[in-house]
Amino acid sequence: MQLSEATIREIVKQVTARLQPTDSTGVFPTMQQAISAAKQAGQTVRSLSINKREKIISGIRAATLQNSEILSRMAVEETGMGNIPHKILKHNLVAEKTPGTEDIRTVAWSGDNGLTLVEMSPFGVIGAITPSTNPAETIICNTIGMLAGGNTVVFNPHPAAVRTSVFAVEMINRAAQTACGISNIATTVDAPSLESGKIMMSHPDIALLVATGGPGLVDAVLKSGKRGIGAGAGNPPVLVDETADLQKAALHIINGATFDNNLPCIAEKAIVAVEEIADELMRFMVNENCYHATAAEIAKLEKVVFVTDTRADNVHNERSIPKALNRNCVGKSAADLLKIIGITANARCIVFEGEKEHPFIAEELMMPILGMVRTRDFAAAVETSLWLEHGYRHSAHIHSKNVDRITNYAKTLDTAILVKNAPSYAALGFGGEGFCTFTIASRTGEGLTSAATFTKQRRCVMSESLCIR
Ligand code: NAD
Repeated sequence: MQLSEATIREIVKQVTARLQPTDSTGVFPTMQQAISAAKQAGQTVRSLSINKREKIISGIRAATLQNSEILSRMAVEETGMGNIPHKILKHNLVAEKTPGTEDIRTVAWSGDNGLTLVEMSPFGVIGAITPSTNPAETIICNTIGMLAGGNTVVFNPHPAAVRTSVFAVEMINRAAQTACGISNIATTVDAPSLESGKIMMSHPDIALLVATGGPGLVDAVLKSGKRGIGAGAGNPPVLVDETADLQKAALHIINGATFDNNLPCIAEKAIVAVEEIADELMRFMVNENCYHATAAEIAKLEKVVFVTDTRADNVHNERSIPKALNRNCVGKSAADLLKIIGITANARCIVFEGEKEHPFIAEELMMPILGMVRTRDFAAAVETSLWLEHGYRHSAHIHSKNVDRITNYAKTLDTAILVKNAPSYAALGFGGEGFCTFTIASRTGEGLTSAATFTKQRRCVMSESLCIR
């Protein structure tokens, strides 16, 4: 008897699955294997009670808190970006404030014609691509939300953060094993690449793609032909007007802009200050241990922060110069950046004044370098902020006591996140109300993602009965 190719493939798949140890930690040599293991685990997850899903999530939260320092050290050592104390805060935040199954809600209508429910159901296997800037935070946050929604997930992490990402995936599976004897709720490959990402994006078993990263990644996911959630780049301006408490504004702006050395996509990237208070704001920022750089010093920094890049795909809009960020400068401390240009100063942030078109102001640097643009009045400040946000509709912040102005700014900027009179990280639930996420779907409009985002809606109708009013 001759077996068909499809039958042989099915037999190989089943034998391979049996050979996989039940305590697999989710890391595979190929993307195909990672997807197939997550698919198989998905069948088990579908049969779990919601209570059991929650038990696994509690295990992931506890493991994250326990390993938060290790994960933070690993990320800083591997990527050379950010700082350990802030990364510990970020991991703790993810563990404590990422929503679990309580986010999955049912909507019901009951009346003369019976009972109709809309329930949130899993997509199945989700393909998630994660950044180097918050590698483990994103993996843990995505897994909690996706599992709460009843899904399993395959990650294609940033190659520059592979060790940290693999550690996070292994930690998650160990927690799931301990809680419920399940493995492979999250899987990945041991050597992620653009190629493994492409395999994921076109694989028939991937029902939904979730992209957290820069514009190139989000473009690729949205062109894939699959449903995609795009959490892309931002360039958050922070507007300060003459009604603001300037001392507080300066402290909040510098706290936000220096958090994890300015790596978060929501962090303040440019200041827009009205003329009347611009000098005073600058003085308060200098009092917060900022280094007020001269034009010559900024010009020197510019030569090291940017490198020539002739890749066509780097020119993503009309502002783009044929230059790319020097990855050795991204996520470095202000003191380290100053050292490169021969200045010894233990400053928290480098501040300077410039035109909105200055590349340190117009481009997303992810470094504690904050340029201030001066405008004649509030209306001009809103216009400048809108230009600086470049239509990403990601994040914008404001310090003002005038509610009408705040409303005007919020409506005009139309961003997924708008923080008023607080550091940007308040938006993540850090010193602000609300839940935490590390995937802010600015590009595709879901906003701050949570378990509910990773579900599809299904309507279930019972006609002429089950209404018991
Ligand atoms: P990056 O875009 O370099 O990489 C992100 C991921 O996408 C990596 O896994 C990378 O390998 C992959 N990738 C990159 N280009 C790709 C392409 N063309 N096709 C397929 N995969 C591709 O991002 P990064 O430097 O690690 O992270 C910083 C960027 O991500 C910043 O722009 C930041 O604003 C953004 N970010 C956004 C959010 C959000 O929630 N909106 C969160 C974190 C980071």
